[in-house]
Amino acid sequence: MNNVDCIFCKIITKDIPSKILYEDDDTISFLDAFPVAKGHTLVIPKEHHAKIQDLPSDVNQKLFGTVHKMTKKVDSLEGSTLIAIHNGKESGQEVPHVHVHLIPRSKNDSAGPVHSMFKDKIELTESEIDSLYDTLKIN
Ligand code: ZN
Repeated sequence: MNNVDCIFCKIITKDIPSKILYEDDDTISFLDAFPVAKGHTLVIPKEHHAKIQDLPSDVNQKLFGTVHKMTKKVDSLEGSTLIAIHNGKESGQEVPHVHVHLIPRSKNDSAGPVHSMFKDKIELTESEIDSLYDTLKIN
């Protein structure tokens, strides 16, 4: 299931060294090589899939089981953690292998809430909201 061109698949096979924090049959967690905060950690499934919805259900559950385990550790650093997934290239995903960022956050770091990522605010009409509701609702 590995992709020869994928940097995360090479971390899984140990062809690229990393600071592995946790590993089981289905998932692995390691320190981000380009941390934005002290303790910036990644959790990934061992199967190569680009997006969350591409993961088989059992792999998804195992991924978030490891996120749950690692969040307890990472959160012990600052007492607050941003958990983030860029799901697709246009959302900021730089490696097309599902990865969950666990980023320790502190009061005086330079980041803000997720809403601060978007400089342009949008306004929706009632009909647009209704249309989105119909599109996204799971029946
Ligand atoms: Zn991969």
